[in-house]
Amino acid sequence: MKRDFLQLVSERTVLFDGGMGSMLIDAGMKPDECPELWNVEKGSIIKDIHRLYFDAGADVVLTNTFGGTEIKLGTRALEKRAEELNKAAVRNARSVCKTNRYVAGDIGPTGKFLSPVGDITEAELYQSFSRQTEALLQEGVDIIVIETMYDLREALQAVKAVRDITSSIPLITTMTFDKKKRGFFTLMGDTPEKCFSALESSGVNIVGANCTLESKDMLELCRLVREKTPLPLSFQPNAGQPAVRDGKVTYPQTPKEFAADIVQLVEVGASIVGGCCGTTPEFISAAWEALRKRI
Ligand SMILES: [Zn+2]
Repeated sequence: MKRDFLQLVSERTVLFDGGMGSMLIDAGMKPDECPELWNVEKGSIIKDIHRLYFDAGADVVLTNTFGGTEIKLGTRALEKRAEELNKAAVRNARSVCKTNRYVAGDIGPTGKFLSPVGDITEAELYQSFSRQTEALLQEGVDIIVIETMYDLREALQAVKAVRDITSSIPLITTMTFDKKKRGFFTLMGDTPEKCFSALESSGVNIVGANCTLESKDMLELCRLVREKTPLPLSFQPNAGQPAVRDGKVTYPQTPKEFAADIVQLVEVGASIVGGCCGTTPEFISAAWEALRKRI
């Protein structure tokens, strides 16, 4: 039987995979294409990406379902295919998952805003997250990861949707913060303190942050949150601050620089680390190498 994931997190550092988006672009995905559609139309490419991450040393890969809610897929008139695309994504990851490695069902933001910024309702968010969760669970994910959340209220609807379906699946929720003069804030103005205390009482097992910040700022944030919550922490920084060169988004960090910062994240208290935008299997491999004594 596979080792209990939360038990593993309590025993050693756990390494997640890196970015999916940049890998898809490198594989030829055009900006107007829907990444989730590739789960059925180009499944072998998705499997190859997952395989590369497992080979690099990742304990966990995230399914290619970041935009897999009906609301988000609806912006491309694909909402009726939500169940199919989410299930295909899990099968792709499962098919290359090794013994004692894990597949995490990935849930990202819907892209719509609650009042007063937008007109989506909490009930609509809840329903959309519920349906995505059902599909991910039916196909057998080991973990659920709700990530890159920039509105605490939306994150809480996603958590509620998952927890109303199952109380047993390990649930990680990571918010995305910007660094301002006065500290760290989500796009909607939530502080880390507010986010993590609300998530803590909502039934999440692990909290943290991903995306937006490069690893140095993530380190500062990690130090700050370590004092605020007793829950294990998960941090996935980008490979530095993105810049646009020749119409292409590039990230400045080398795998080695990234890996050095990842080690520091672990030293200040992160139990789970991995990469977000701009990171590739090379970055995860470098992180694994740097962390090998702890893994
Ligand atoms: Zn990212």
